[in-house]
Amino acid sequence: MEKQNQVFQGKNVYGGIAIGSIRLLSQSEGGIRRIQARDVEAEVVRFTEAREQAKEQLSRLYEKAKQEVGEHEAAVFEVHRMMLDGVDFADSITKMIRAQEVNAEYAVAHTGEEFAAVFESMEDDYMKARSEDMRDIASRVIAILQGRKTEELRLDEPVILLADRLTPGETVQLDKTKILAVVTRHGSVYSHAAILARAMNIPAVMGVDFPEDVDGKSAIVDGYEGVLYVEPDDALRTKYRNRKNEDEKQKHLLMELKGKDNVTPDGKRIDLFANIGSVSDVADAVTNDAGGIGLFRSEFLYLEAEDYPDEEKQLQAYRAVAEGMEGKPVVIRTMDIGADKQANYFKLDKEENPAMGYRGIRICLERKDIFQTQLRALYRAARYGRISILFPMITSVEEVREIKKITGEVKAELEREGIPYKDAPLGIMIETPAAALMSEELAQEVDFFSIGTNDLTQYTLAADRQNAKLERLYDPHHPAILKMIQMVVENGHKHHCRVGICGELGADLTMTKIFLELGVDELSVNPPMILKIREKILSMD
Ligand code: PEP
Ligand code: MG
Repeated sequence: MEKQNQVFQGKNVYGGIAIGSIRLLSQSEGGIRRIQARDVEAEVVRFTEAREQAKEQLSRLYEKAKQEVGEHEAAVFEVHRMMLDGVDFADSITKMIRAQEVNAEYAVAHTGEEFAAVFESMEDDYMKARSEDMRDIASRVIAILQGRKTEELRLDEPVILLADRLTPGETVQLDKTKILAVVTRHGSVYSHAAILARAMNIPAVMGVDFPEDVDGKSAIVDGYEGVLYVEPDDALRTKYRNRKNEDEKQKHLLMELKGKDNVTPDGKRIDLFANIGSVSDVADAVTNDAGGIGLFRSEFLYLEAEDYPDEEKQLQAYRAVAEGMEGKPVVIRTMDIGADKQANYFKLDKEENPAMGYRGIRICLERKDIFQTQLRALYRAARYGRISILFPMITSVEEVREIKKITGEVKAELEREGIPYKDAPLGIMIETPAAALMSEELAQEVDFFSIGTNDLTQYTLAADRQNAKLERLYDPHHPAILKMIQMVVENGHKHHCRVGICGELGADLTMTKIFLELGVDELSVNPPMILKIREKILSMD
């Protein structure tokens, strides 16, 4: 009997569920051999002509992609055309043909690989992903030289497509009605193939090490978790069929509500942003049409790591979020380690009352090296989008002044070192009763407030949010919490300080109307809730 439920984990590129059979795409590299050229100049001419043809193909692909997925996503083909047009690449190839007297195919393959290796060796994940672009360009020219047709992918029925790698060209040529999902062995979530899959609404998973013998087998792709299941059993199928139904309802909602403003019929509006915990969650935020990221809980970067994440690693993560949101606002909260979020390498003492203990900003203000590293990464990343910085667990004006002193020092240090950075608005979490009560004074110190109703509830009602026995007492609808929210909004607005809610209460549909009436500027919620709240807002009496 066949082995059932084989699980292959990869990286989630675009959410969605697919159930179907696998079509494994075998990609011949075209068997490029090094051949001694008899007529070197004829090889140069062959290359030059193939390059012209490749440029024409790319112009056509650009037009097709522009119509189907939009100008921004289509830009990759323009970039490829420009890279082909650039003197560096073409020069290196013609030089190699002449110097080594080799065939054009070999020179293109060799040079393409050399250029790709340069990108691959770069620290930055985004630049690393550009190596895929280089390979794509080279294989396009080689296919023309070999008289092969590129991007022709004939499919008769809808399949889950598995491939070693997919180029942007292949991705945009996919017939969406015949592709249930794509899964590749190679490729990064930053690659243009990934960007296009997202724009085309195709569930996608990359970095999956699947076996060769899967062609024709049944499978499930969970694009949210980045998992491929081969030969799923009945129980798994039923589970995913249900998930898929839910998913389709959500996608339907998305089709209807995507791009609409969050305005009530009588003209009240609010921003709907997403809460995320990792870079890969950005895909979910974009899919659900988030207006921005209202809370990136950066402590997850620390929790996933074995040791303190260094400046470069953090820079890459924050930059990826900023770029992934394409110029929309991104609020990154400095790490809120402590309480229920413990990382061993911090070596924190065991505490009697960890929720009321040494956590978040309290650690940062004592262990300044950790704080400065994070702030340096944040200011450097701010160049790549619209980043704001949010500080958790604030209880006093003095803390905020101390934070501002440190942010000033960090910027001065970057300046001195000649490291490029950009300034960023500063905000604080209002999640302690002290912060709510001091909101008038605090509003004069910062650019924005984000009300953390999860902690505000536990501290105001003296009810541990982790304690299941206290569930009845832990009530974010308690009038004390609502009074505080009202007070914070009024005090914030008095001093031109924007006020959002990022605790779970923000996603409570029974509260949406009240928040609009109170004049809350933004709700930041789990991505799947965004459209449900928008639906509610649009149909409000
Ligand atoms: C909150 O306290 O409401 C909040 C958003 O922060 P966290 O849940 O991460 O403590
Ligand atoms: Mg909190």
